[in-house]
Amino acid sequence: MGSYIGYQCSVCGKTYPADYKGYVCDSCSGNLNVILDYDHIKKNVKPEDIFTSAEKSLWRYLPLLPVEDPGFEGTALHSVGYTPVYKSETLAQKMGVNQLWIKDEGRNPTASFKDRASSILIARAKQIGAETIATASTGNAGAALAGMAAASQWKAIIFAPKTAPQAKIAQLLIFGAHVILVDGNYDSAFDLSVEACEKYGWYCRNTGYNAFTAEGKKTAAFEIWEQVLRKQNSDKPLNIFVSVGDGNIISGIHKGFKDLNELGWLPVMPRIFGVQSEKSAAIFNAWAAHTETITPVHATTIADSISVDLPRDGVRAVRAATETNGAYIAVPDETIYEGISELGKIGVFAEPAGATAFAGMKKAIAMGLIDDQDDVLVMNTGSGLKDIRSAMTAAGEAPVIAPTMQALEKYLKK
Ligand SMILES: *Cc1c(COP(=O)(O)O)cnc(C)c1O
Ligand SMILES: [Zn+2]
Repeated sequence: MGSYIGYQCSVCGKTYPADYKGYVCDSCSGNLNVILDYDHIKKNVKPEDIFTSAEKSLWRYLPLLPVEDPGFEGTALHSVGYTPVYKSETLAQKMGVNQLWIKDEGRNPTASFKDRASSILIARAKQIGAETIATASTGNAGAALAGMAAASQWKAIIFAPKTAPQAKIAQLLIFGAHVILVDGNYDSAFDLSVEACEKYGWYCRNTGYNAFTAEGKKTAAFEIWEQVLRKQNSDKPLNIFVSVGDGNIISGIHKGFKDLNELGWLPVMPRIFGVQSEKSAAIFNAWAAHTETITPVHATTIADSISVDLPRDGVRAVRAATETNGAYIAVPDETIYEGISELGKIGVFAEPAGATAFAGMKKAIAMGLIDDQDDVLVMNTGSGLKDIRSAMTAAGEAPVIAPTMQALEKYLKK
């Protein structure tokens, strides 16, 4: 375990010791950053120790994580992360960029990026003796917590909007979590879950609330460093596109690169681009207005995983772009469907929120933010199997013919 010193509020700067029991800042309710003991890590760990690790999951980064190894070797908890990065020359050419990678988070055990946070949270719960973990979720965070809880025989309670895609609700139920569907949106599920955790003493995993979710999500940055950056050894920054709802994935990825930078292991910081749907663009709006004040919107995007009225990690999410010379892009939902189709043509099946990052990259190129000398990496944050209805909308209809050669020939002539 990488020792951590405590927490610092991302808004007012107030610091807290490692044994602080709250979730957010008690003065201003800002999100807390976990402060690692960089000197201790530098003295005891070298990048090579990580590169040569036999652990093929995010637990290979244990020396940089603020939790102890939870155990449960040989379970799904030990197959989170270390997801593949595909290099596509076809897409690089088509898009007009130098090199292009897709990191496929759909390959996680419950098929989304959220497994990274939930696995770390199981470790944290074990360490502090929390018997029950609860979370609000648009679907994936819940499925991830339910799956990781099942793998470790932990108790999970999930609050999700009743409108979540069927596949995600099925996952929650199959993993045996205590599922409570809320007749309202994600934001109302969030507020209810926080209140319930306070009242019943459950450990709250909520995104953009519990400081440890970003610590799990930062492992994606470590993998990009290991799988792409150290091999390229380029002095030009990599341009990374991430879809954004609450803003916790982008904040976590930013934190991961900052950790590596502090340790002196990452000479060139990547540029981070956040992508939102135009129909759920609260963080984009703040970024565009040069403010860190997040004003809620009425979110209506078809990309359910990023449909958020009031993002819970907005301040850090804005900074992920401003501090790395990146940007925010807002895309129309129609281009998200196109993104699903285009990713499919190189063998990657994305859910709408995953394809949003791809749509954002295309728009950034069209806007001239990225040119033909630039390298880009697109995060596909979730599997297309999560939302078949959207996949079918993107794919269109297949032809139906009679089971005869005659009918086939007639069809092929068309
Ligand atoms: C949760 C999620 C996101 C967005 O992450 P935030 O931390 O809410 O910004 C994007 N894509 C998928 C598939 C997700 O599940
Ligand atoms: Zn504060």
